Amino acid sequence: MRSSIEPIHRTTFGRGVGLLMVALFAMAVIVAMLAWRARDTLEDLRRADSINTVLPAMTLLMEDLLNAETGQRGYLLTQRTSYLQPYRDAVRRLDQRVEELSARDTDPAHAPKLARVRELVQLKLNEMNQTVRLNDSGRHDEALELVLGDQGMRHMDELRDVLGELISSLRSERSAISERLSRDAGHTELLLLAGLAMLGLFTVLATTQVVLRSRDLMRTQRRLRGIADNVPALISHYDGRGLLRFANAEVGRVFHTDPASLVGRSMEELRGAENAARIRPFVQRVLQGESVAFDADQLIDGEMLHFHQRFVPDMADGRVEGFYACSMDITERKRAEALVAASERRMKAITDNLPVFITYIDAERKLRYTNETMRTWYGLDPQAVIGLHIDDVFGQAGVSQRSAQLALALSGERVEFEITTSMLGKQRHLRAIYVPDVGADGRVQGIFTLSIDITVMKQAEAQLARLASSDALTGLPNRREFDQALGGALARQRRHAREGRGMALLFLDIDRFKAINDTHGHGVGDTVLREFATVLRRTVRGSDHVARIAGDEFVAVLEGLNRPDEAEQVAQKIVEAVRAMRPTGLTISVSIGVATVADGEVPAMDLIALADRALYQAKHQGRDGWAAIAWPGPDLRR
Ligand code: GH3
Ligand code: MG
Repeated sequence: MRSSIEPIHRTTFGRGVGLLMVALFAMAVIVAMLAWRARDTLEDLRRADSINTVLPAMTLLMEDLLNAETGQRGYLLTQRTSYLQPYRDAVRRLDQRVEELSARDTDPAHAPKLARVRELVQLKLNEMNQTVRLNDSGRHDEALELVLGDQGMRHMDELRDVLGELISSLRSERSAISERLSRDAGHTELLLLAGLAMLGLFTVLATTQVVLRSRDLMRTQRRLRGIADNVPALISHYDGRGLLRFANAEVGRVFHTDPASLVGRSMEELRGAENAARIRPFVQRVLQGESVAFDADQLIDGEMLHFHQRFVPDMADGRVEGFYACSMDITERKRAEALVAASERRMKAITDNLPVFITYIDAERKLRYTNETMRTWYGLDPQAVIGLHIDDVFGQAGVSQRSAQLALALSGERVEFEITTSMLGKQRHLRAIYVPDVGADGRVQGIFTLSIDITVMKQAEAQLARLASSDALTGLPNRREFDQALGGALARQRRHAREGRGMALLFLDIDRFKAINDTHGHGVGDTVLREFATVLRRTVRGSDHVARIAGDEFVAVLEGLNRPDEAEQVAQKIVEAVRAMRPTGLTISVSIGVATVADGEVPAMDLIALADRALYQAKHQGRDGWAAIAWPGPDLRR
């Protein structure tokens, strides 16, 4: 605020004061000129004054000389004593007159003439005194001769000339001075008028400037107030004593009053003693020239409002004159934050209690979030691992096991996969989903990972698969499993055939089993079936496939045979083992059809039919034995 108002303020008065300075300077010049003139005038006046004292002295001297001469001549010519008195008075004063004149006329130019006057006066005095003395001592003629003589006349004439010159030169000097004085007075008047006019002009200009600028300033202030009033923040200005000097409309809105009515009040009055005490440390700091920001709560009309406050020092010439306070009502934001925090707490409670592992990994592969499962699966404190690189959390082996999926997800692809991994010595089968977190700029910021422990599910699944593929009574693989096993064996036979090796399919059927059921009951029949299965399993190799395909029918697939009679030997071994069986004390036997294969390409159905045919032969030959038929292809090497 200050930065906008202050320059205008200074410029306004700067220009006004500038013009006034010009006016004053002009006035000073004029006054100097007037003073110069006044000095000259004073000089002239002094001179005129001195002339005015010198002239009467000269006139008086002249008068006294004439009086003395008239007295002297009158007395000598008429012998009337009445002339003596004025003569004596004049003569007595003459010395004094000369002294007065010398004292008054100090003009060095007059000095020689004055000296001559003094001399002539003295001569005249001597002459007059001499003539009077001659007359009084009876020498009247001598006295008359002296009076009427040339010499006395000459002295008097010279005195008249010298004094006359002096007087007329002084008079003309005096009239020149008075002429000059009256002319200068006219100029001085003009100069004064011009100075006054200039002062008036500049004063008007300066005043106009100040008025115009003041109007600008007021307009600017009005605009600034308009802006301040429309800012959705509480803006106020306090002076150095902490008294409010300005408050915008928002302040009035919050306090439900006219902001102007708050001006002049202290913090205590405005915010209450308790709030003011809490804010005081910040006020002290801002008054020391530091900008401060803080959050504060305030109860206004029974409602608790939250404000974000900022105090900025109002500096002038390096001194703090007060401070601006800008408060944002952040009550709504605080409420929203509280709602978000509550929702985050709820989310955390949910995620922490889910039997899943949730993390957020940023683009630099640093862990930014993990739920409580981190503790149960990895034995790590979820808070302690935040910010660590995933290599340091899960170990390089654990990370490289998932490196392909991590790279895909970090390149922006959603990845879903299953993985078996060891955690704290426990094997867990996990189903993991990596979801990229794509920012507004399209760049991947990180990935969310969600892993579910499906170990138990996998075990159940395996159990189910086992149940689906095995025979419930004997525990041997069932027909479905046998079909698959035969398919696999035939596929492998293609390779075995090239190596000169063969395979065989054995069909086994318990002899006269129906009779056992009929005679001893189904329970005994089941026992016979279970024990037969056990003997069969034991008699063939572990790698051979054995299955119960129906009722009392069993199969065995023998692979990697070097010779066809190896299959026959196995069949014989089974027949003998069954003969030796004594299930529930009964004697049983089995018939076996053996289909041998040396070729690589044999259709399953054809091989089954061949084995079935061999079994039929075995039954037909009297049971308790085996019959073998070779696949009609190239013979096995013997
Ligand atoms: P053959 O020597 O010709 O094979 O005579 P057989 O009596 O054994 O005749 P066949 O093989 O056709 O009879 C199979 C009998 O097996 C028929 C059926 O009642 C019996 N059976 C089938 N499934 C079961 C079973 O799960 N338990 C019992 N106890 N008997 C079964
Ligand atoms: Mg049978």
